[in-house]
Amino acid sequence: MTKRIVFMLFATAMTVFSATVRAIDFAQYFHDRTLRIDYLRTGTAKSNTIEVKNFVAKAGGWAGSLVHTIDPFDYGAFRVVVKDDATGTELYIRTYSTLFQEYVATPAGADSTATFQETVLVPYPKAKVKIVFQQRNAKQQFVNQKEVSFDPATTKVVVAPAAPPAKKLLYSGDSHKKLDVVIVADGYTKKEMKKMEKDFQTFAEALVKMKPYKDHKNDFNIWGVPAISKESGITNPIKGVKRNTAIGSSYNIMGIARYLMTYEIFTLHDLLDNAPYEQIIIMSNSDVYGGGAIYNFYANVVVSSATATVLPHEFGHTFAGLADEYIDEDISYEELHSTKTEPLQPNITSLVNFDKKWKDLVEEGLPIPTPVSAANLNKIGAYEGGGYRKQGIYRPAVRCMMGTGGGFCAVCKRAINAMFEIYTE
Ligand SMILES: [Zn+2]
Repeated sequence: MTKRIVFMLFATAMTVFSATVRAIDFAQYFHDRTLRIDYLRTGTAKSNTIEVKNFVAKAGGWAGSLVHTIDPFDYGAFRVVVKDDATGTELYIRTYSTLFQEYVATPAGADSTATFQETVLVPYPKAKVKIVFQQRNAKQQFVNQKEVSFDPATTKVVVAPAAPPAKKLLYSGDSHKKLDVVIVADGYTKKEMKKMEKDFQTFAEALVKMKPYKDHKNDFNIWGVPAISKESGITNPIKGVKRNTAIGSSYNIMGIARYLMTYEIFTLHDLLDNAPYEQIIIMSNSDVYGGGAIYNFYANVVVSSATATVLPHEFGHTFAGLADEYIDEDISYEELHSTKTEPLQPNITSLVNFDKKWKDLVEEGLPIPTPVSAANLNKIGAYEGGGYRKQGIYRPAVRCMMGTGGGFCAVCKRAINAMFEIYTE
């Protein structure tokens, strides 16, 4: 009996996963190197344009998987697709989000044009390719936005300025089969190197301490980049604090006091040139409460007594595309999670298409929406309130690391575990 159950589980997993894998022969199309593409995105909620600024030949090898070059998830707001020029075959796809789609959800973003730096990394093509930038239409489908040609024989490629060395904080093996996370320091002066080293250790330990990350400790490579700032601390406009720092992190992004991010994306990637990386965490030298993280873009986390819980939470956003499960009606971007469509994130639902979310994890007979009650405290359901909204958006658990605290709920755990598969094969 046991054997049969094991076999059935295996078969189910195979079916689900094989449906999403479209493997290409990596070595046929790509060098084991990285092409970095720096571009500007300019616009409003109505429309935006993309202007490529630089193709950069990154130092070192390709840190990503050689097998999973096609992103099987459908989480981000944007997507980059690399196509073979001769045949049109899709060789590399990755979805991601950026600060731009948060900006256009603010009142200013409705009609005031703004420009944002964005960067994507792709494996370095051996022959001519088309690089296609895609965004979502009103039906949430990806549509082509801009197509540029890249010919390794003729396209101008630059190198990054001299960058700090990358230190191994946790090394588990070959980057192609590991999740490579880089932690980069911001707001530390030369005199604060000792504190920086200590904080690197705190961050690296916090990242692998909580389940399900803990179960994947051997799937992590963690790198530290000791970027040096001219001034100590982090810019905080509300308090009149202005600091000249390596990456330019700041509080009060999008008018939210605790939202800590940077707009200097090209500088950020310049500083990371010597590290293999697939995920970025900025370690901000400040103890003022705050932070932020965007899917496949970067996370920004401060060094404090709360790092042990804030870091796993923020990494849940940037690594696994998880949404916040809490309610915060002060968040200025009202339409960030529409109730008329199904949210992209795996751990919130508008119930528009609950079947494609975590309905399979809900026990039979439990009402949907699920009332918060003592009996339901540890049950996966659909509890109203999440994605900052009090109504119309539902979360899987009464309490979760992505919400009001505690460990990760079963839905978030499943999303995190699934993500590890595409980084570690
Ligand atoms: Zn959760």
